Amino acid sequence: MSYDDQNIFAKILRGEIPCDKVYEDDHALAFNDIAPQAPVHVLVIPKGPYVSMADFSANGSDAEIAGFFRAVGTVARQLGLDEPGYRTIANHGRDAHQEVPHLHVHIFGGRSMRGMIPKPKPENG
Ligand code: 5GP
Repeated sequence: MSYDDQNIFAKILRGEIPCDKVYEDDHALAFNDIAPQAPVHVLVIPKGPYVSMADFSANGSDAEIAGFFRAVGTVARQLGLDEPGYRTIANHGRDAHQEVPHLHVHIFGGRSMRGMIPKPKPENG
């Protein structure tokens, strides 16, 4: 899948639409999710044009990958989540229902999160 530079996170990176920024460095931008699913729900995105984890892990430079994942940890630490804990999710592709085709790691925190992933729906239900 080629990168679509009109995706919503590309526009946020270019400053064409606003975001509620919580962190930025050379490799990453972090902002609050517009439809939070936990008391803390932050998205961390790399600054480069990567569609997803599959694209980034295959094509990102070592510096971009190291810088991005350090930023994810830094954001969670700065949000005070290291001690109580937090969950990270990065959806890739159809089965994961990735909506925005620019890699993003969700950071969820601020409450206890039971269950690793949703249970499958019954076949004929
Ligand atoms: P995905 O399903 O692709 O992993 O998650 C996309 C996330 O982006 C969703 O949680 C959704 O609420 C969030 N999102 C979509 N559009 C915007 C936006 O314009 N601004 C912000 N801050 N979040 C957005």
